[in-house]
Amino acid sequence: MSKIREIHNQLKNKEISCLELVRERLDLLKKNTHNTVNSLLEETALNLAKKVDTKIANGEEIGLLEGIPFGIKDVYMLQGTLATASSDLLKNYKSPYTATAIQKLLDAGAIPLVKENCDSFGHGSSSENTIFGAVKNAINTDLVGGGSSGGSAVNVAKDYTIFSIGGDTGGSIRQPAGYNHVFGMKPTYGRISRFGLMAYASSTDCVGPIAKSIEDIRIVLNAMSGKDAKDQTTYQSKTISEESILNSDKIKTVGYFKNFINSNAINPKVKADFLASIEKIKAKGIEVKELDFFESDTLVSTYYTLAMAETASNLSRLDGTNYGNRMEGDNLKDTYSITRSENFSEETKRRIVGGNQVLSQGFSDEIYLKGLNLRDQISGNFEKDFKEVDVILSPVTPSTPPKIGDSLKDPLAMYLSDAYTVGFSLGQLPTLTIPKGTETGLQITAAKNNDELVLQFANFLNDLI
Ligand code: GLN
Repeated sequence: MSKIREIHNQLKNKEISCLELVRERLDLLKKNTHNTVNSLLEETALNLAKKVDTKIANGEEIGLLEGIPFGIKDVYMLQGTLATASSDLLKNYKSPYTATAIQKLLDAGAIPLVKENCDSFGHGSSSENTIFGAVKNAINTDLVGGGSSGGSAVNVAKDYTIFSIGGDTGGSIRQPAGYNHVFGMKPTYGRISRFGLMAYASSTDCVGPIAKSIEDIRIVLNAMSGKDAKDQTTYQSKTISEESILNSDKIKTVGYFKNFINSNAINPKVKADFLASIEKIKAKGIEVKELDFFESDTLVSTYYTLAMAETASNLSRLDGTNYGNRMEGDNLKDTYSITRSENFSEETKRRIVGGNQVLSQGFSDEIYLKGLNLRDQISGNFEKDFKEVDVILSPVTPSTPPKIGDSLKDPLAMYLSDAYTVGFSLGQLPTLTIPKGTETGLQITAAKNNDELVLQFANFLNDLI
């Protein structure tokens, strides 16, 4: 059931006013104890809501997204508002411009309510690596909200926002969506402009929606997609229609990676539930194929090698000169090092040190180039697979959400929890979490630019399971 359509109709029929709607959600956000809020956009939101009400009162038509309240992970630019990346370094930084994806939503009339808590610079899988306090899971507050887009997923799960815009570099939309039982999509790389999204690992960074229905994912995805002169990796995609995703007849063959399911690291219940879903799919006459894939350890090491290299490079500009909370030292070099060592978190520093090591002379051939080579092999494997199957199904995570505090004690265990999401990021493929099938959901992936097929299969599975 589309919440966007439901609210749109209520607004149109004057059953609710936009001001009431926005006030109510702002109150919920203010009172919430899940630590999802970095800053509230109260004044902007209330002013926009009044304008929508005036339009409706004047008998003017409103668009589908007009007046719909949404949340924004705090790594996006929205002109004049704080963009902290949940970090000390940028805790007072104000966006000088607006991200393309967010601008498109504003142009469609959607109302931004909140900049949402997340792992600092997207570094993490639990939303504990933040100066605003660990995000608490929507279902069980002893558990993590997931990451890095934890605040966004929890806000949607708790109905504080109707949809939220997360960012996914290696799983940061899909994993928290799974941990909080909502839908989350990472589109094909390049479908949505990254302009105005703070760069983590530029070659896998993706903008994407988190919502409570597949229809809402489709609506928001369409609104944000498109070629953008400010991001040369974007391409023009076709709008995905409502009708086109209701029919899944095109899907004849589904694949899954047998080593994901036979791994020692998978929780036995996740495994049993996943295999039960596979049986239900087979019972519908769809062919299911077991596929060979790289070991999870290889995927995780390849991803982290490249992601650390890219983030070390991307974050080098944050030295207190143009950006960031500058801390003066005795000379310029000291100023750089004090600013960076005092203001970056442990996790971010680990990645900067690791990334610079990977890229340094004498090591880069051995490590970075090898990572790139493996990435090519992973992409090649996907190309081969998608000649045989229409979609690939996998669990979202090997296990259920950890307790708050556990991931901080064991970063390696946290990296390994990304085992099932990072491969699809390296392949730049469209992939979505549906909150069904296993405790942390199922992940549906298709070949590049086949985002429509992902949504079709999601509708099919949603009815089936
Ligand atoms: N957990 C992964 C990481 O820390 C993915 C994060 C993300 O997608 N931003 O790199």
